[in-house]
Amino acid sequence: MQLLEDMILKYGKVRGGNVLKVDGFLNHRLDTALICELGQEFCKLFEKEGITKVLTVESSGIAIAYATAEKLKVPLVFAKKTMSSNISDEVYKVPVHSYTHNNDYMMLMTKAYITSDDIVLLVDDFLANGCALGGLIGICEAAGAKIAGIGVAIEKGFQGGGDLLRQQGYRVESLAVIDKMDENTLEFRANCK
Ligand code: 5GP
Repeated sequence: MQLLEDMILKYGKVRGGNVLKVDGFLNHRLDTALICELGQEFCKLFEKEGITKVLTVESSGIAIAYATAEKLKVPLVFAKKTMSSNISDEVYKVPVHSYTHNNDYMMLMTKAYITSDDIVLLVDDFLANGCALGGLIGICEAAGAKIAGIGVAIEKGFQGGGDLLRQQGYRVESLAVIDKMDENTLEFRANCK
């Protein structure tokens, strides 16, 4: 998606450990017009799939997932990373490794919010090794829900998570795929959405 690639080139900063910082428009300060466009694009890509819910994980996936769910006119649910008194005891728990925090956490989802009647679209801001999406897939499997596809804003193609998920048979649509990245270079894969 040209608009997203332009924003990454203009405002993105490459940090050590293969991290792309986009907190000026996607992760901390949010460009609401851009995020609405991302939601519109995912809606166009998946609107024929009969989706009943959009699922993401807190916190940076929520804004994009919200914009997508709003366009698809379905509820958004997000997995939590910490237990609190707000969450019922009836939860799915899936262990996940965090790329940016380099630690392990338990992904939590109230059982009543994803069920075997659901056709789910998974949405996240980044796809690197695929651990976060793997956790969301684990929740859907535990619930018996069908996964219609995966929508990702920025896929770091060189880290292989996207290709692995595609090999597993998932439809992964990424709006910008970075094939090469260092302090001086940022190369996008051609023919992205
Ligand atoms: P994965 O689980 O696929 O290895 O990493 C995806 C998750 O880690 C995303 O939910 C995202 O929050 C975070 N992440 C991975 N790579 C980056 C990155 O380069 N920049 C930012 N801002 N977040 C990232």
